[in-house]
Amino acid sequence: MSTNTHPGTLTVVGAGIVGLAAAIELQRAGFDVTIVDKEGVGAGASKGNAGHFATEQVFPLADPAMLPKLPGMLMDPLGPFRIQPRYFFKALPWFMRFLHNMLPSRRSHNSRAIKALNQDSIAAMKSLAEFCNCKELLTLNGSLLVFEGTPEPEVHKEYRAYADAGVEVQLLSADEVRALEPSLSTNITNALYFTHVGHTEDPYRLCLALEAKFKQLGGKVVTEELVKINSSNTDSNIRLETNASSYTTERLIIASGAWSKPFAKQLGYSVPLETERGYHLMMPQRSRLSRPVASYNRKFIITPMLEGTRLAGTVEFGGLKAPLVEARADCLFPHAKALLPELFADASVEDGERWMGFRPSMPDSLPVLGRSQKQSNVFFSFGHQHLGLTWSAITAKLLTQEVLGKQADIDLSPYRIDRFS
Ligand SMILES: Cc1cc2nc3c(=O)[nH]c(=O)nc-3n(C[C@H](O)[C@H](O)[C@H](O)COP(=O)(O)OP(=O)(O)OC[C@H]3O[C@@H](n4cnc5c(N)ncnc54)[C@H](O)[C@@H]3O)c2cc1C
Repeated sequence: MSTNTHPGTLTVVGAGIVGLAAAIELQRAGFDVTIVDKEGVGAGASKGNAGHFATEQVFPLADPAMLPKLPGMLMDPLGPFRIQPRYFFKALPWFMRFLHNMLPSRRSHNSRAIKALNQDSIAAMKSLAEFCNCKELLTLNGSLLVFEGTPEPEVHKEYRAYADAGVEVQLLSADEVRALEPSLSTNITNALYFTHVGHTEDPYRLCLALEAKFKQLGGKVVTEELVKINSSNTDSNIRLETNASSYTTERLIIASGAWSKPFAKQLGYSVPLETERGYHLMMPQRSRLSRPVASYNRKFIITPMLEGTRLAGTVEFGGLKAPLVEARADCLFPHAKALLPELFADASVEDGERWMGFRPSMPDSLPVLGRSQKQSNVFFSFGHQHLGLTWSAITAKLLTQEVLGKQADIDLSPYRIDRFS
């Protein structure tokens, strides 16, 4: 720590929701914080996600139940879980680790670590949104997981799985679903109602509100691409080279989402970070929904937003360079029309705006969070997979505790970067 009255300079790489939330907490803690982002604030996955503070998602993605369906799913070009054929061999090492994480012991360890982050994530986001004067961007109305004709025993099994995992959930009949959301299709036979979750009506606006507060606190945002990190294994300053300039900083946070792997490598860590590309189709029609509605059968989510209705989901392994596949965004539309027939009666897929974002995902569904063991002034916060919005405020809080050398509110060992070595 510096001997000045302030704790010193600190650079955050990445102005997604994870980097922004961390930058605010650290600036508040007294650091002189600069965010470096190659494209500007909220340009990555944080711009177009489904806006769901999804604390009901307590199960890691690596689920043995998906094994029999996996080969077919991966090869279906419009399936909810797809691998691009030319990317198959590149993704293979990640998938080997993913399979390993299906072991019951790994799965329960990972689930516990997910729950530890989920536990206070909404409270942390509420407090951050209040601090950033944007609490209107956080709605705490719960969310629905709807079923269409799924056999009752299967619905009950799903319900029990969530309830037994400690998730606040109610099982609704068809009539109860319609009482809650009258615009939903009459084909819906049941729903799970997650009462303690929330959503934002505009994830990008949330990023901008955080940026405004960060700047008001004295933080700086630099739009440049970080190329090289020159760091010794001591506490000395770190030299950063960007495409336009070079800087020194006393502390460094890597929060560049799906692009974090080469930086971890430069710092001496090989991490199995892959991107799960996800799509949205933003429809201009504004729904009467009061909460996000996910479909158990169709594997996607509908979120009511300020600018319309966002249809989001799907997982595609294809790396960071392959272009957006329009058909993967478009295929969400017929599913949404089936669930909201009146809203989309006269709509067409061409009304929608297509988007693809790069979820940063580790095979154990846990982020990389905390101090580097090789450089005491370097910290990581990336790999937040499907839950980066949900975990942004809580990981910012935990990271700040770690940077300040305080005991973190939860045990951070499950998230350490060296867990893969
Ligand atoms: C379709 C979809 C739906 C989703 N829905 C939800 C949801 O409902 N709830 C939820 O919690 N999560 C959701 N997610 C996941 C969530 O969006 C991500 O986990 C989260 O946005 C990750 O945030 P981040 O800040 O780590 O990464 P990003 O937002 O991707 O930010 C990384 C930043 O790093 C910058 N960067 C990269 N390389 C460099 C470099 N060399 N130099 C400088 N800057 C660099 C990029 O420009 C970018 O701005 C969804 C994701 C997708 C794709």
